[in-house]
Amino acid sequence: MAAEQVIDRAGLDRLVEVLQAEDYRVIGPQLRDDAIVLDELRSGAELPDGWGVTVAPGRYRVVQRADSAVFAHSAGPGSWKRFLHPPQRTTARIAPDLTAEPVVEPTARMAFLGVRGCDLAAIATLRSVLGAGRHPDPDFVRRDDGLFVVAVDCTEPGELCFCASTGTGPGAGPGYDLALTEQLDEAGHRFLVTTGSDAGAAILEQLPARPATAAEITGARDAIEAAGRCQHRALPDRDLPELLRDSRESPHWEEVANRCLACGNCTMVCPTCFCTATEDVTDLTGADAERRQRWASCFEIDFSYVHGGSVRQSGASRYRQWLTHKLGTWQEMHDSAGCVGCGRCIAWCPAEIDLTAEVARLAELTPLPDNTPGDRDDDR
Ligand code: SF4
Ligand code: SF4
Repeated sequence: MAAEQVIDRAGLDRLVEVLQAEDYRVIGPQLRDDAIVLDELRSGAELPDGWGVTVAPGRYRVVQRADSAVFAHSAGPGSWKRFLHPPQRTTARIAPDLTAEPVVEPTARMAFLGVRGCDLAAIATLRSVLGAGRHPDPDFVRRDDGLFVVAVDCTEPGELCFCASTGTGPGAGPGYDLALTEQLDEAGHRFLVTTGSDAGAAILEQLPARPATAAEITGARDAIEAAGRCQHRALPDRDLPELLRDSRESPHWEEVANRCLACGNCTMVCPTCFCTATEDVTDLTGADAERRQRWASCFEIDFSYVHGGSVRQSGASRYRQWLTHKLGTWQEMHDSAGCVGCGRCIAWCPAEIDLTAEVARLAELTPLPDNTPGDRDDDR
């Protein structure tokens, strides 16, 4: 079978059925509570046909579209992280004699349907942090085991997207089993399908597909390139780890802290933030106790608590920690940035704080180092 095939809208429903028949728990976008959320799909009919979103700093609204596009909505409040690294889970039950029984929740093999380039990069980031190294998280590894990914090339980015500048989109990068490019024009509603693995090819063989025409392949490529060009936001064209290092004493941290509520929304919605806290909880009788793990945020005052007090007391130090880790030290630790340009933290920040604007301001306030090419007199 040729690598590039085309399925129609009914073929997309069939994709969900085939994945379910192969014993995958299929997770995909659906309209619920005035948002496009990610959850288990009972069928392809639950996909959000004809729904889009408008986003701005501190704002997210679903809107009915004039067409029936399925994937023409930018990142919603949830990310795939919650299925690989749940917001809360019980890790052990503790008996009155203080013996602990580890809790391993049953998990079905999952298929993610509709993963954009930015979120595909975020999954790769979680894998490098939680799934690799000397001490991989066994719960993450178990959930990720056998994951089937149907990516979606983004042809209609949202107002807050900046994946083109982080190099994580708008086309889907490596790591998918199948990738779809949605096309909706006078020739009909259809999806160009590219295979990325043997598992993907085996699923595609079970779908009612036809070979893509040269015009469809070119049209898909052009639409992805146009999607990259129309993004308004970008990270500054600077060495960001160096900029963050040189901005350590910038007065701008205090300026952001005057607006930041330290609510932690940005870390909760971020598809790459992975920090957790562990708590022991007992019932009122004291007979049962559990050890629970939950997502934690570096904006919590207790996050940096070290025998006797928190290291980062001020809001300025906490925002600096978050941004410096995302764009600076993460690069040194994991060989990639911790930001994939999805724009979620901007949409869901109640104070409308926009990390692209904050980094741009830091770049304005922090001169390039003296030895930077182009800054010397003899380079002019
Ligand atoms: S930057 Fe925004 S979302 Fe993040 S903690 Fe501050 S107010 Fe909350
Ligand atoms: S920092 Fe913001 S834009 Fe970057 S990946 Fe996280 S939520 Fe998305």
